[in-house]
Amino acid sequence: MSKYLQRSLRISPVYCVTDDMQYFGGSRNTGQNLSTTRCRHPDCSELETLGHVLGQCPKGELLINARHHRVRHALAISLKTLNWEIHEEVHCVSSDGSFRRADIIAINGRLKRALVLDPTIRFERNLNQATEVDIEKKSIYEPCLPYLSQKYNVPLKQWSVIGLLFGSRGSITKFTWNYLKELHIPFDSVMSVLINIIKDSLQILHHHLYFN
Ligand SMILES: [Zn+2]
Repeated sequence: MSKYLQRSLRISPVYCVTDDMQYFGGSRNTGQNLSTTRCRHPDCSELETLGHVLGQCPKGELLINARHHRVRHALAISLKTLNWEIHEEVHCVSSDGSFRRADIIAINGRLKRALVLDPTIRFERNLNQATEVDIEKKSIYEPCLPYLSQKYNVPLKQWSVIGLLFGSRGSITKFTWNYLKELHIPFDSVMSVLINIIKDSLQILHHHLYFN
């Protein structure tokens, strides 16, 4: 078992040991061609790995989006309960004029803090993923901060952008865990998010394998 999963297990209730090199191609139960490792979806030619099915396959796109929306909304509700002003799926404009959509805008006048939170669910691959996601999200949303600062009338210096990685097999990284803890999001709420991720991922997998 990788160190990543070992660490995740300390705070994650559920996990799956199937690694990303496990192919589903040629499932016995669905009459697929046993000679191929390519995805069974006719519009997809990728290798049919667990990571592909849970994160990228167009066959599960609607369910993958629904899983993300559920995580976003659960975090938004938790912060709202903690008296943060919350806005979800906020249209914003980057410094180069391009349009973006921020998952969660959280504003707390008492704490003089404003956050752009972008929860992201990805297949667990390595220990650097959480940092990479955070850097990626900062590069996307920090150029939007002047726009958001003006829109919500919150000084620019109070804003920060955080990319929060969750594993598609229900794991959570130390980075994400510590950040949610700092925001005082209750343990039970985090556990609920993780359990719902694994439920939704199982549904995505089931849909991929058994529905045409
Ligand atoms: Zn596919």
